[in-house]
Amino acid sequence: MAQAKEVAGRTGEQADSVHAGCQMLQLEPYTAPAWAATLKGVPRQRYRLAQLPTPVHPWAVPGLPPGCELHIKRDDLTGMQLSGNKVRKLEFLLAEAREKGHDSVLTIGGIQSNHARATAVAARYLGMESHLILRNSDELLDQDPGVTGNLLVERLVGAHIWQVSTEELMRLRSKGLGDALAAQLRQRGLNPYFVALGGSSVLGVWGYLDMMRELEQQTAGQGFTDIAVACGSSGTALGIALGSRLAGPGLRVHAYCVCASLAFFYRHCDMLLAELGAAPEVLGCSAEGLLRIVQAQGEGYAKSRPEELECIAEVAAATGIILDPVYTGKALHGLVSEMAADPGAWAGRKVLFVHTGGLLGMYDKAAQLAPLVQRAGRAHRLTVPPAADGEAA
Ligand SMILES: *Cc1c(COP(=O)(O)O)cnc(C)c1O
Repeated sequence: MAQAKEVAGRTGEQADSVHAGCQMLQLEPYTAPAWAATLKGVPRQRYRLAQLPTPVHPWAVPGLPPGCELHIKRDDLTGMQLSGNKVRKLEFLLAEAREKGHDSVLTIGGIQSNHARATAVAARYLGMESHLILRNSDELLDQDPGVTGNLLVERLVGAHIWQVSTEELMRLRSKGLGDALAAQLRQRGLNPYFVALGGSSVLGVWGYLDMMRELEQQTAGQGFTDIAVACGSSGTALGIALGSRLAGPGLRVHAYCVCASLAFFYRHCDMLLAELGAAPEVLGCSAEGLLRIVQAQGEGYAKSRPEELECIAEVAAATGIILDPVYTGKALHGLVSEMAADPGAWAGRKVLFVHTGGLLGMYDKAAQLAPLVQRAGRAHRLTVPPAADGEAA
């Protein structure tokens, strides 16, 4: 059994006292878009956690091929503490948790998981306790994980953090670790709701199926041909691709994966499609026919190559939009690399890049980003008029 050691600053044995949450959220009945009504597992209810609709606007990233138009959908603006893509999934997941009478939420991710942070914040809004299983490097497992980036927000909202090693995650998978911690929490009298890694369960996918309804309303008649998005646990890309196919002619969906193998993601997507009642017999194709998953992990999950960081710095300086090093920076770098390799293939295309957030995760990369920022040299010593004779200091 994994030796999950709790590190958050409260005594592990006692449950939180009852928290009121922020008391502004009500469960709402949910109606699926007409084109999705025949899928299985249509959510019954949702919470409105995200600030929607998020904007869509043109995005003049340097070096686009001639005749190719790029726009961006700002899912980095779904909220402040709740920024990014995970909150769309949590609207349905936490509605189910509440509906089924759970009092606490349990999920899993990397040490700088945006998903874990969004889950912790949303749970606290709803007055629920959160328990986060976070994978960290072996030598750091018995230490306090610190307060960088997402961790600061998680710990401020009172999340309980449980660190595990990569080996433990590989051996027990997220399900096994979740079951182990859930058993311990039940012994303390809690009734935890398990949110899958990245929120990419069938119910989580509904967050991005529903996003396609929002996008349809925003961009009707604008002639988009392609959607590009980062892929980490694949629920976002799958929701987009399935929604796009069911809603109409279907856009080409390019999912730039930042970890694992293409085979792994296609398998996971096929499994989700089957659970959604969209197996190949029904849909006419498997995940491979529905979306294009592109390998973009470079050095590996959460490890940055200089060219990826250069891309982030260049795009920020040119457009003011900040991509994160773990997901969106790799996705955009993957997209522009493909465009540079074969510009002709992108002529006449109108591409929508879905910005899935991640700003808080980037604080952890400050040391690597510092030289790029300092190179721009825009910090100066301000010269001010000297003090007049006799003027008090
Ligand atoms: C989780 C995450 C993704 C990937 O979404 P999945 O649905 O897990 O594939 C992309 N970008 C950011 C910033 C994320 O936090």
